[in-house]
Amino acid sequence: ASVTPALLYLDDVSVTFDGFRALNSLSLVIEHAEMRAIIGPNGAGKTTMMDVITGKTRPDTGEVMFDGHHDLTRIDEAGIAELGIGRKFQTPTVFDMLTVEDNILLALKSDRRPLASLLEKLTSARKERVDELLERVRLKDHRHRKAGNLSHGQKQWLEIGMLLAQEPKLLLVDEPAAGMTDQETADTADLLREIAQTRSVVVVEHDMVFVRDLGVKVTCLHEGSVLAEGPLDAVSSNERVIEVYLGR
Ligand code: ADP
Repeated sequence: ASVTPALLYLDDVSVTFDGFRALNSLSLVIEHAEMRAIIGPNGAGKTTMMDVITGKTRPDTGEVMFDGHHDLTRIDEAGIAELGIGRKFQTPTVFDMLTVEDNILLALKSDRRPLASLLEKLTSARKERVDELLERVRLKDHRHRKAGNLSHGQKQWLEIGMLLAQEPKLLLVDEPAAGMTDQETADTADLLREIAQTRSVVVVEHDMVFVRDLGVKVTCLHEGSVLAEGPLDAVSSNERVIEVYLGR
């Protein structure tokens, strides 16, 4: 029987900063169309892990394989983005002076000439793609507003829409619901679940209520490696995880 390989493998990855092991033989597998929540106390290595996946940090040792045969440790950041890995940081980077629609338009993968893409915005294929993305990120009714006038939550969705415009296979998101209202938080969980029907999503998250709402497999990092992995209930009742979180 043939087995479809997973989308992303980290195998025995270590990263050392000035003698300090930020990642210590970390291994992780993300399947196609899987959403995974990454938790762990401050300093556990969550950011470093994301940096390794996106090529911002080179591991000292270990393998990072993506989408079959791409060895990410040998590809630069731009090349990795091109392969289909998008990353959303906590602070949204949208163009405040442009409309919501034009932000999406600028992000569309097919056109590498920003000015040309603005002029072409009425061509129907692109328009349909923009409509689809605006609908998906719940901003259809706000398309003509300046991005700078959106709420904090709406800006986060716009940035997710801009990342989706690049058609990533894997989306990395850092605390997507931070600073959101309860309703926006619930909508964000829905949005991420929708995205994960066709793409893989890795969410670094501190808010356990949000992690519970996502309802996905959880990986708890500690001192640069995996401490526990599985459903949230199992991970959060794991004795070692409890010890780490209580700081004993
Ligand atoms: P987390 O995101 O889980 O809070 P990080 O990956 O940011 O953890 O950090 C893991 C450890 O590595 C921390 O102790 C941090 O101080 C250290 N670290 C991270 N980046 C650097 C760096 N560029 N130089 C030195 N130490 C770093």
